[in-house]
Amino acid sequence: MSENATHSAALVTDPVCGMQIDPQIAVTTREHDGTTFYFCSHGCAAAFDADPHRYGHPHAAQ
Ligand SMILES: [Zn+2]
Ligand SMILES: [Zn+2]
Repeated sequence: MSENATHSAALVTDPVCGMQIDPQIAVTTREHDGTTFYFCSHGCAAAFDADPHRYGHPHAAQ
């Protein structure tokens, strides 16, 4: 067994394409409502910017 300690960080999900990525290699990030989202590409980040709430980001109805 050879688990690399540098790869022990939890993966995060790109909300646009659903890809699981290591936060350390994310191409770009966005902060929204106090949460940091990680993206595999600028295209995914742009899609998120256009409509953040379309991508698995529910809000409590107020
Ligand atoms: Zn929001
Ligand atoms: Zn993506």
